[in-house]
Amino acid sequence: MTDHDLLIHGGAVVTVDDVGAVLDPGWVYVRGNRVAEVGAGEPPSSRLAHAGEVIDAGGCAVMPGMTNAHTHLFQTLFRGLADDKALLDWLRDCIWPAAVHLDADIAHAAALAGLAENLRGGATTVIDHQYIHTDEGINDAVCRAADELGLRFLLAHGWADRNYHPALEQTAEQAVARAEAARSRWDGHDDDRIRVELAPLIPWGCSEEAMRTTVAAARSWGRGTHIHCAETAAEVEMSLEERGVRHVTWLDSLGVLGPDMQLAHSVWVDDDELDLIAASGSVVVHCPVSNMYLASGVAPITGMRARGITVALASDGPGSNNRQDMFEVLKATVLLQKVHHLDALVLQPTDVLEMACRGGAAAFGMPDSFGALVEGRRADLLVVDLRSPFVSPVHRIPSALVYNTTPRDVRDVVVDGRIVIRDGALVAADEREVMVKAGDAARRLFDRAGISTRVTADVLRRGAPPSVVGR
Ligand SMILES: [Zn+2]
Repeated sequence: MTDHDLLIHGGAVVTVDDVGAVLDPGWVYVRGNRVAEVGAGEPPSSRLAHAGEVIDAGGCAVMPGMTNAHTHLFQTLFRGLADDKALLDWLRDCIWPAAVHLDADIAHAAALAGLAENLRGGATTVIDHQYIHTDEGINDAVCRAADELGLRFLLAHGWADRNYHPALEQTAEQAVARAEAARSRWDGHDDDRIRVELAPLIPWGCSEEAMRTTVAAARSWGRGTHIHCAETAAEVEMSLEERGVRHVTWLDSLGVLGPDMQLAHSVWVDDDELDLIAASGSVVVHCPVSNMYLASGVAPITGMRARGITVALASDGPGSNNRQDMFEVLKATVLLQKVHHLDALVLQPTDVLEMACRGGAAAFGMPDSFGALVEGRRADLLVVDLRSPFVSPVHRIPSALVYNTTPRDVRDVVVDGRIVIRDGALVAADEREVMVKAGDAARRLFDRAGISTRVTADVLRRGAPPSVVGR
């Protein structure tokens, strides 16, 4: 870790600290990979004169980077391929047939494009539920992409040992061995910027024995477990028929709930299950856009918050969103709860900023290490232009960040003290090249799978985003 320093000043600092302080104007001083000082007003003149690098954030908000706490990066190549389907049809008809043809090169291209989108969309941290292991090099390719672009990254090694596509199934022993291989190269990399954990896909895809084995392995590493939980009513019915219990009750009976457990979705959970989640300290990862896209349902976010459950936010995979835009997720989280409860006060902008920043850090397994602009935390932050036509005029800054802001307004992004996006452009890669490679990879993948699409490389080479249409 270099000992460079960076001063961001002149903007409104939305700290997302314990009291939700907004310092307008304020300044943030970063030394190495940590926030060294945060202050109101203008920084001391000596700081301004001697800082190695200075960002003038006049007219901007400075906020903590968000965590996209549940995505599937390979699906960056699948977005728009299979709109308008329910979860289980979408999986069987659209995701599995092409996913089995993924290789490490294609996964790397997909991850670069998906991670670029995440960074542009305000996510400095990404948890990738990576369950395609048709090529042993895929985990490594995805971590390499995160390392190249400079994100904070958690590879959640996905597995299922039953009821899944046979080419995508793994035994618990295989899952642990493959995650061990990824761990040996990546876990703790770059002062803990990249981590590896285990991620059973879904209760109906996992046997009890395998669940116990992989959670025990993850705990022996000091790492967590990530799982899809109670996403749809149909899956809960399947669990009741086969096992006689709902998803969270089943997980509790295995002894796997705890602060190291990330429960993605948790839409169809009853009051008893909410009590179990609260008592165990498990983290819920809410994916409102995906839940609407697949018509899965409305997660009981207010019931979770009333019980003190930590909630993180996420896009879910771009195959069921179709974007990885955390500003859209912020807005969708609030709007969905408001319309569901017919109560305009039910959730506030400051609540969802806290979920996306601090909740995300808890999901990552480092609840006190980032997610707030507070002295001593890792320096992950966004500089958001409040003067853009999408945002201005601004009356209340947290409100503007949640309801007005788009990825176009994200000007600069800092991860672990390093500038990874400057003036809207990736520092470590050429965005157009990344997108051209992703388009080429998508065409190779769908050709191989025999799925007819229109990935138009000529359009991509002119700089437009990739288009994958129809079947
Ligand atoms: Zn998912």
